[in-house]
Amino acid sequence: MSLLKIEGLRVFFRSGNRTVKANNSIDLEVMNNETIGIIGETGCGKSILGRAIMTLLSENTEISGRIIYKGEDLLSLSENKLRDVRGKNIGIILQNPAAALNPVLSIGDQISEVFRYHDKMSKQDARIKTAGILEMVGIDPDRMGEFPHQFSGGMKQRIMIAMGMAFSPELLIADEPTKGLDPETKKSIVNLLQNLVRSKNMSMILITHDLDVAEKICDRVAVMYAGEIIELASVNDILAEPGHPYTQVLLSSLPKKGLRSISGESPSLSSPPSGCRFHPRCEYAMDICKQVHPDMFLTDIETEVRCFLYNGGQDKP
Ligand code: SF4
Ligand code: MG
Repeated sequence: MSLLKIEGLRVFFRSGNRTVKANNSIDLEVMNNETIGIIGETGCGKSILGRAIMTLLSENTEISGRIIYKGEDLLSLSENKLRDVRGKNIGIILQNPAAALNPVLSIGDQISEVFRYHDKMSKQDARIKTAGILEMVGIDPDRMGEFPHQFSGGMKQRIMIAMGMAFSPELLIADEPTKGLDPETKKSIVNLLQNLVRSKNMSMILITHDLDVAEKICDRVAVMYAGEIIELASVNDILAEPGHPYTQVLLSSLPKKGLRSISGESPSLSSPPSGCRFHPRCEYAMDICKQVHPDMFLTDIETEVRCFLYNGGQDKP
């Protein structure tokens, strides 16, 4: 069953007299108990998408389209209602725990604040809840009085997970939860996320650079390029048979330690290329690619690919 449905989402920023088109016509459905990965190079609009779903965007942002959660469009809800949805129904693990955590507040106080803010809980009750949630992510509750700098990078990430999971949301958005972690720590964070999502029957949107992580925990993957989803498929299909020329180059780096950067310039989000946004870097570009913006087409293995090579049964590259 569908949990969240994004339709025609556009997120534009004004920056001086430029408009940065960070997300352009995003359509994406997240099903119950599904983990969906959002992958793509830095600056492709992945994190913006995560923040847009939480309606956590700065004031100079123009956002349009629909984000349907349980029959309601989040973009039309009042700030009060949204505050309820954020955290309680949809949790987010923000990128970069070192910056997201307040250095002068103890961990216990920061997590308790989440409970007190959303549930108007007493201090005492919030402390008890906090102890429980710390235990759940593998941190000794006795360390509640300690400050962020007293925790390692992996432990800080666990604290971020604890905050995102505080109310056992139905949907967790995790933005680069393994970035900057050593391989062992990364593995333990991936296991923790996977276990939490499974045991609590949650759905997750995992924003990541790391294909190993995507392969381990995602059911489906959406590849983003220049603010658009350009391929959507099951993780196994995309790894075995990437359809979009961009995905093919992206995944051709082995071992799958991360996404390799590809030749040619990353497109500007304020003046993206005409037609297919990938055409200046694409070795298969045809005349039509420069003029017409491609829709998503179905391939013969039923993946969705935004590329004219899949329009009307032409041969695959
Ligand atoms: Fe390349 Fe054209 Fe496909 Fe774009 S639409 S990826 S330019 S072949
Ligand atoms: Mg990002």
